[in-house]
Formats: sequence, structure tokens, C-alpha cells
Amino acid sequence: MIRVTVWNEYLHEKNNSKVAAIYPEGIHGCIAKFLKTNEDMVVRTATLEEPEHGLTQEVLDNTDVLLWWGHMAHNRVEDEIVERVHKRVLAGMGLICLHSGHASKIFRKLMGTNTHLLRWREDGDMVRFWTVDMAHPIAQGLGEYFELPIEETYGEYWDIPQPDDLVFISWIPGGEVFRSGCCWHRGQGRIFYFQPGHETCPSYHDANVQKVITQAIRWAYRPIAWTPLADQHTKPLPDISLGKN
Ligand code: ZN
Repeated sequence: MIRVTVWNEYLHEKNNSKVAAIYPEGIHGCIAKFLKTNEDMVVRTATLEEPEHGLTQEVLDNTDVLLWWGHMAHNRVEDEIVERVHKRVLAGMGLICLHSGHASKIFRKLMGTNTHLLRWREDGDMVRFWTVDMAHPIAQGLGEYFELPIEETYGEYWDIPQPDDLVFISWIPGGEVFRSGCCWHRGQGRIFYFQPGHETCPSYHDANVQKVITQAIRWAYRPIAWTPLADQHTKPLPDISLGKN
């Protein structure tokens, strides 16, 4: 079983009736609900205002893949918790960073660049996601492209390190393009960024978006059989090249 934790800032839903109408159980509640229909996943949620943001060491130690949605309160996430999550990703926990999570402390730390820098606008445009890696496990069953009738526009240039796998590129009628589905490896961990999910758009109710997130979790899941050792000064292994001792 893949142990999934869906983390959400969970503030817009409490402060904005339009957002609450789209996500009455919170963005995390909506995502957890469709993920729970998968027989290979056990799902829990965590939010900013819980003690330790709901991400205690015990929770993280029992999480294989963490999903992250944040927007207005990135700076309220305690550095100590960011450190804790970072350490777990390097040790093999998957991280799925969603939408405005591009500017979160954890994503910026893992990428090492100014990932909060991109073009953005909110004009009610549609978006078309082109699959540019047809064989990638995250893209299975999505076809050449899929569309969302309304989503916030994100556009290039976006200051990320070159992705290890680029799965989707978005096109927007306003002329922008955006690397909207990107994979990276950090330590033993796998990271996927997926662009849709603006709080006033119903994107997490969309079947294709749900399919991408589900498949991204399976891709990011890495059961680790051993813990990397500490830095060690070693001797050579016994020489067996001549077949004798
Ligand atoms: Zn947004």
C-alpha cells in the first residue's frame, strides 16, 4: 500500500465563499476523496493550522508520497518542518507539488532556484496540456492532450532547474506556454510538479487531473529497502580479480 499524505494550507476555503463552494471539504478533502477510491493507497490529510502543520515526524515517517498545496501562507510554514520534509524526500519520500506550491519553501529548497518567478494572470482562459512524453507512467491514458475550460494562466519563463522528465507542456490562448508537468530526482526521492489547481477553479474535480495526480503518486512511490550510510572513509574491497585470495 502507498501511504499518501495530502497537505493543504486550507485558508482560502475558510475565507472565501467562492472557494468554499467549489471545495466544501477543502482542496485536501477533495483530493483525498478521489485518491481513496484507489485500492493501492491509504490516504490522510494535514493542514497548516494543525500542530506542527500536521507533519509530525511520526506522520512523515509513515508517508510514502506527500502532496503539497499552498498559496497565501508559504511564509507561515515553519523552517523546522520544511527541514523535516526535505530530509524525508532525500531519504525516498515522493513529493507532488501542486499549482501555487511552486512558491513554497519546500519546493524552492529542493529545486535550489527562484521557482516563485514565472508569468501569471487570471483572465478565465482555458488551458491545453500537451503530452510531450507519451511513454511516461504519469501520462498513461491521457492521450495527445487534454484541456481544462478555465484555469489560472502560468507562463514561461519559469525559473526551475531543467526537469529530469518533462511530461506536459501547456498552451494558453493568450499565447503563453508553460512546463506544466515536470519530474525531478533529489537524493532517493522523486518530485513531480503539476500546474492546475487555482483555488477558484474546479480543476481537482476533473477526471484527467485526478488521473495525472494518481499516476504521479504511483511514479513517485519508492519503497526504500536500505538507509544510505553516513559519510565513511573506507578500505578497498578484497581483490577477487584473479579468482584467488
Ligand atoms: Zn493560483
